[in-house]
Amino acid sequence: MRRHRIETDVAVIGAGSAGLAARAAASRAGARTLLIESGPYGTSCARVGCMPSKLLVAAARAAQQVREAGRFGLRASLEVDGAAVLARVRRERDRFVRAVIEGVRRIPERERLDGRARFVGPTTLEVDGATRVEARGVVIATGSTPALPGPLRPLGTRVLTSDTIFELERLPGSLAVLGAGATGLELGQALHRLGTRVRIFERADALGGLRDPEVRRSAHETLAAELPIQLETRTEIAVGGGGLIVRWEARDSHGEEAFERVLAATGRRPALADLDLAASGLELDEHGRPDVDPETLQCGTLPIFLAGDATGDRPVLHEAADEGRRAGRNAASYPEVERSPRLAPLFVVFSEPQIATVGAAASEIDGAAVGEASYADQGRARVDGRNAGLVRLCARREDRVLAGADLFGPDVEHAAHWLAWAVQERCRPSNLLTLPFYHPVVEEGIRTALRDLCKQLDGNVDDDEPRECRPGS
Ligand SMILES: Cc1cc2nc3c(=O)[nH]c(=O)nc-3n(C[C@H](O)[C@H](O)[C@H](O)COP(=O)(O)OP(=O)(O)OC[C@H]3O[C@@H](n4cnc5c(N)ncnc54)[C@H](O)[C@@H]3O)c2cc1C
Repeated sequence: MRRHRIETDVAVIGAGSAGLAARAAASRAGARTLLIESGPYGTSCARVGCMPSKLLVAAARAAQQVREAGRFGLRASLEVDGAAVLARVRRERDRFVRAVIEGVRRIPERERLDGRARFVGPTTLEVDGATRVEARGVVIATGSTPALPGPLRPLGTRVLTSDTIFELERLPGSLAVLGAGATGLELGQALHRLGTRVRIFERADALGGLRDPEVRRSAHETLAAELPIQLETRTEIAVGGGGLIVRWEARDSHGEEAFERVLAATGRRPALADLDLAASGLELDEHGRPDVDPETLQCGTLPIFLAGDATGDRPVLHEAADEGRRAGRNAASYPEVERSPRLAPLFVVFSEPQIATVGAAASEIDGAAVGEASYADQGRARVDGRNAGLVRLCARREDRVLAGADLFGPDVEHAAHWLAWAVQERCRPSNLLTLPFYHPVVEEGIRTALRDLCKQLDGNVDDDEPRECRPGS
């Protein structure tokens, strides 16, 4: 077979959110670039991740609002057309995918290559065995794939992952969800609200990435009042009952239940296995992963950079885009490599109420000060009939700077953003309290937590601050 040979400055493997950002940054820095993609264009975020999952959550939220209309004195009845719900998810999802593909098409054709890349030298790649790419630097942005536990593999198409669930033509009658992380909670609760019988099983004492045990307890209590969510539960799954039988065992109970399908929401693994990374000369750990400097994204001392889900760290879209930009810039400027501080950690789970974590966990800080507020009686949350949740914020005592937050409550996605900005800008809770809070909004609940945090830090807080108008205050 005749081999083609391409020379470039920066080769980017993977045209997902990280890879596209890396290519654009390297190109802006004046480098010749080559973007290599083995699968369909459109990014995991648009095709199987953020967007279809939020579309399903949006449909479920609409259904729930109809179901709960009675609490406002309204009479409404609900009929879920599952096929139509899934058709809308795919229709809107396809629009997002098309928009990404249009962007990719604007990249000159000579700067794109379709095929699977693998290393044959430190910065030499072979693509589909047919093209040799010689680059000065390489960005690996190959994303991640669902981690399917071994015992589930023989069960075939009855086992769904986030890669396959949005292709269903109808909603499953029943679904066992394995994993109570972001994917398990979002999809599990959404399908429950759309009429599927759902039970969520989680092996660890873990829920939506929450680190604070009090907030986790509050979240578990509220979410499990709506649908069964079993933590610290082991499962065994076998074919039977016209579908799958899940046998489960928790600390003080056990049982078995038949389900039509299982959703494996058991995490994702960096997609590095096919790259033949050993041929690059990088040192690899026992999982075949190289050591990455999180401030430069460089692997070891070679001109190889890693970005996005492929790093195995903070697998969310804004991190993928930020890492892609930094990796692309550094690959273009190598051997000069710029260090840049990481973003403040920010994660959101689109359950209802929502879950969010920001910055550091209190348990990571010596003698952290912690302030909290409950949403059980919070003014605006009560107005909307969504009064459940708990937020806990933490600060370091030595510099009195806000360090992190674990949030469970209505629409905490918004507060989580400005709390992350405050953590990154090293703001003090006392300064945040001098900023405007409109009334009545759910963010006033965060103000209550900030006031409590100031009390823990300083022993008092200026009590002339306007109070939230809520029952009992
Ligand atoms: C169900 C779900 C919901 C999510 N919801 C959210 C959310 O609400 N908010 C959020 O911020 N994040 C969310 N995420 C995470 C987010 O989607 C990812 O963090 C992000 O898409 C990762 O982008 P990436 O560029 O690293 O990977 P991808 O977009 O997966 O790109 C990797 C690309 O590399 C290609 N590739 C792999 N190997 C090779 C090779 N050898 N040669 C050539 N090409 C290769 C792949 O085909 C792929 O196109 C969600 C994820 C899932 C699964």
